[in-house]
Amino acid sequence: MNNKGIHHISIISGDPQVNADFYVKTLGLRLVLKTVNQDDPGTYHLFYANGEGQPGSSITFFPWSMAIQAKPGTGTVSTVSFTVPEGSCDFWIDRFAGMDIKFDSPTDRFGKKVLPFYDPDGLKLELVEDQKAAHIPAWQGSTVPAEHSIRGFWGSNLRLTDYSATVNILEQVMGFKTAEENDHELLLTTDSHLGHSIIIEKSDEPKSGTNGRGYVHHIAFRANDEEDLKAMRKKVLEMGLSPTPLIDRHVFMSVYFQTPGGVLFEIATDGPGYKSVAESEEEMGKKLFLPPWLESRRDMIEQRLQPVSVE
Ligand code: ZN
Repeated sequence: MNNKGIHHISIISGDPQVNADFYVKTLGLRLVLKTVNQDDPGTYHLFYANGEGQPGSSITFFPWSMAIQAKPGTGTVSTVSFTVPEGSCDFWIDRFAGMDIKFDSPTDRFGKKVLPFYDPDGLKLELVEDQKAAHIPAWQGSTVPAEHSIRGFWGSNLRLTDYSATVNILEQVMGFKTAEENDHELLLTTDSHLGHSIIIEKSDEPKSGTNGRGYVHHIAFRANDEEDLKAMRKKVLEMGLSPTPLIDRHVFMSVYFQTPGGVLFEIATDGPGYKSVAESEEEMGKKLFLPPWLESRRDMIEQRLQPVSVE
């Protein structure tokens, strides 16, 4: 089985507590890792995922309370889609209506029922009903009943003008195959249960998205292990692109590169995973994790960070 697909998706948000309330209390995800932005240790990097923190389930945020509003546009990840069990959309419509969450009418796309909605920073999200969701265990600690809870990513939409190079990267490096195409959209898939679908929205506008809260900073794809990551990086180099060296993020190893369509891609290893930096599975996401080179500054860093509670 081809286990490739999306690994995680990272986004710029506004206030960290508003962000945590939405993703944990409203959507029922688990905070699996609370750490700092390694490029700006005075701010958080928050990771929400399914109960086990599996690859293909983690949506991560760089919260900056003062960040201006992003503008969606071409050359960006326009939509992040979560997978839910079949028959779940009616439950979520009632939940969103009761919680005053902005959502649109459900639609049908490539044979799947899709419920679009928006996070507090205006990021467009979707729930997609998918039979594959039933293969993934529900997190028992979720605020959402198991039969309807989010299991991880279904996929993501990239809005692109020049999409042929990106399709080539997805097919030749990331393990996707073109599955369906119409005048407006192209669907690429893998066999994985989570994060298995990328939709290219064909745009004829120049690059237009601007950074800010609600902006998808990058999308990461799965490598089996470090050896596979090196092989995938080599293919990226051979395409004439400029990947970074391997970077140790402690919960996975990463390589980043800019794609010709405008979206920043990352490749990340499946392991060691979020559990590896917690004392136990129970403790995942509770204590602030710092990379070893920041540990000596823990007191100062913790004092500067606004507390975030998911209780
Ligand atoms: Zn990343």
